[in-house]
Amino acid sequence: VIKTTKAPSKAKKSAVKQPALPNDKVGLEHAFLHYLENNLGRDLPSSPEYQLAALSYVVRDRLMQNWKKTWQTYNENPTKRAYYLSMEFLMGRSLRNNLLNLGLEGSVKEALTELSLAYENIEQQEIDAGLGNGGLGRLAACFVDSCATLGLPVMGYGLRYEYGMFRQLIEQGFQIEAPDHWLGHGDYPWESQRREYARTIKFGGYCHIHELESGELRVHWEHAEEILAVPFDVPVPGYKNHVVNSLRLWHAEAPDAFKLSAFNAGSYFEAVAEKQAAENLTMVLYPNDSSENGKELRLRQQYFLVSASLQDVVAQWTYSHGDDFTDFAKFNVFQLNDTHPSLAVAELMRLLVDEHHLSWEQAWSITTQTMAYTNHTLLPEALEKWSRHLMARLLPRPLQIIEEINRRFLIEVASKWPGCADKIRELSLFDEHGMVRMAYLAIVGSFSVNGVAALHSELLKEGLFNDFYQLWPHKFNNKTNGVTQRRWLAACNPGLRGLITETLGNEDWITDLNQLSALEQQVDNPAFQQAWFETKQANKQRLADLIAKEVGVNVSTNALFDVQVKRIHEYKRQLLNALHAIHLYRQLKMGATQNWTNRVIIFGGKAAPGYAMAKTIIKLINNIAMMVNNDPDIGDKLKVVFIPNYRVSTMEVICPAADLSEQISTAGKEASGTGNMKFMMNGAITIGTLDGANVEIREAVGDDNFFLFGLRAHEVQTKLGEYYPQHYIDTDADLAGVVELLRSGHFNPLEPGLFDGLIGSFMAAHDPWMTLADFRSYVDAQARVAQAYQDQQAWVKMSIVNSARSGMFSTDRTMQQYNDDIWHLTPVKVD
Ligand code: PLP
Repeated sequence: VIKTTKAPSKAKKSAVKQPALPNDKVGLEHAFLHYLENNLGRDLPSSPEYQLAALSYVVRDRLMQNWKKTWQTYNENPTKRAYYLSMEFLMGRSLRNNLLNLGLEGSVKEALTELSLAYENIEQQEIDAGLGNGGLGRLAACFVDSCATLGLPVMGYGLRYEYGMFRQLIEQGFQIEAPDHWLGHGDYPWESQRREYARTIKFGGYCHIHELESGELRVHWEHAEEILAVPFDVPVPGYKNHVVNSLRLWHAEAPDAFKLSAFNAGSYFEAVAEKQAAENLTMVLYPNDSSENGKELRLRQQYFLVSASLQDVVAQWTYSHGDDFTDFAKFNVFQLNDTHPSLAVAELMRLLVDEHHLSWEQAWSITTQTMAYTNHTLLPEALEKWSRHLMARLLPRPLQIIEEINRRFLIEVASKWPGCADKIRELSLFDEHGMVRMAYLAIVGSFSVNGVAALHSELLKEGLFNDFYQLWPHKFNNKTNGVTQRRWLAACNPGLRGLITETLGNEDWITDLNQLSALEQQVDNPAFQQAWFETKQANKQRLADLIAKEVGVNVSTNALFDVQVKRIHEYKRQLLNALHAIHLYRQLKMGATQNWTNRVIIFGGKAAPGYAMAKTIIKLINNIAMMVNNDPDIGDKLKVVFIPNYRVSTMEVICPAADLSEQISTAGKEASGTGNMKFMMNGAITIGTLDGANVEIREAVGDDNFFLFGLRAHEVQTKLGEYYPQHYIDTDADLAGVVELLRSGHFNPLEPGLFDGLIGSFMAAHDPWMTLADFRSYVDAQARVAQAYQDQQAWVKMSIVNSARSGMFSTDRTMQQYNDDIWHLTPVKVD
């Protein structure tokens, strides 16, 4: 029997004190052998998979005590807590990060060496937890890391997808998707199932109004299908501070009583099939980045996440406060990672009104003091809408609540803009096609609405959400994204970590990234420059090895490593980069080799499986690569590589090795970007448009340390409607040559017509990405890059400055700002 509402009782603390676990070399060695031999039943030597499992259990044991202590600290000193609701947590691997945060890397490596095992081989076995698409999901992972390091009582809530982001194979240059059954290779050692906190989630059925004797009305949601949400908790350790927060991931299960009658009636097979269908809910992550496809299962996933998480928080509350919600908003705050969990607004209302019998006004006051919404996109196709019909069928009660929220909201709109029917139509939570505008629901229901970079937050206020800004200017704020320097510098770039620490004299920068600014004092020191250069070269060799292994191309580390890795999307303009690659190839073929800078153009990224244009871009890059890399005239002067299956663990090898970071989206389209920050932190120099957080990166490093090009966001806006791509071809011989070569079928001799659609897209007057408009300025900026790279010393200085000024792009700063301005949590100390 599973208790679904109450927290477990407060049992007496164990009288027997456990001895502290040994963290020295010998103790770790014994612990490792214990797991390998007694738990897994293997001897040395065993396969590295078993070694990974044994080592992970050793580390997990060392997280457990602090995990429990952190939980106790929160329970014993009730303070406000924040809940980060996100459909995605792109965690990647955990072993190295956990070792770093526990301070155990050195002793673990020594212990393994003693056993003649190489730590590096073992950690390579870990499969990425790829429960996210890209930036948004990775941001959530960096956020929980920083919150734990800052000691903030923040819990992540997400879904435990059985299949994460698909594995990308490249066959004949095409992307092929393969399932990512990341859990299928045995236990995931980092999770703990917590069945005692399972919650029941409803779908379908209908609403019934019931009148009490007092005359009060109650709504009952009845005859619904019920699915069990079972939590799996993943520990999130802070950096050497004993704090271990939790990431709670929900898994869907059919309740035991599921279709019992069908079983009894002899429909055994059908009953099992239906049970399986219920459990499909958390089977797979939707692999769409920056676009929505409105599938029913996706809506089910969203509601499942929201309902389970809110029930969880409300159950904890009622456990200690009963039905007294007076102070609920003082102790709880929910951060919505994009609109994906925006049903939380309706669900909290439902729980408070229907299940805990608060008045609408009381419940609305609580809801609008506890919800905070982060917007991640300006792209219209990414703004979620759900059909009212679908909601009526799946979520009848939440839909009624949204309708009532809308009715009351439109009264407010009418009083702000009296007699203005247009405003009612434009701001209604339901559009003219009967779709629910989820972003509007999130804004109406939240006390805080933030964008993720300065420019993005301004554009939200000026454009997309301008009416809401006029209604509630106080809600709008900016929180520029960041990345955690623990994973993205200290752990992934041990060479640079060592150099920085030696130079600064301590490792304080690992929790205070602004300290990197002191590196600038060494910028003119030749010995430091040399050490910096050598570190980069070693990292480039590591990436060159990966490229040789995964792509089969040998690249020279003396060439400029020019990197664009991120989701493949037209707005990110991998196509512009590909056109530049063709341009360089043409130059070489025409003999323009004087003062040439050798270059390796490195791409990586997944296309959404249904996004045909993005998939064609991958194919184009691979065809260019095939042509360029096999041309004896070209040699090391130019190489083009597409690294398959880009993910967190490949980024950990790529970002320390990059010389040049490509951040070339059409201005006004990229909300922030976070890849840009990882590259900067690791000493790459950005070539970029004034878009997203590039603006702030450029402000930080200055124009001399950034290669700027392209139209500005407002110029892109004004050009819309009077854009003639042919004009750029007519006035630019290089561009004309590139387009001609592409059109001639030079890169697809055996696949005629393959790129016609792609060529048509950038030649179209309605091309919203304006690729050709930025071609000249991009090529010129690339020429400046090539020139600059020839002066190795000057380049190294730029590299140092980029890293030294990356302090503000730590998620420690981002989280501090969320806390100061939105959450107002008190950091805890765990002894
Ligand atoms: N995917 C992975 C694996 C990442 O590590 C990152 C960020 O570095 C992203 C996607 C997002 O990249 P970008 O901000 O360049 O779109």
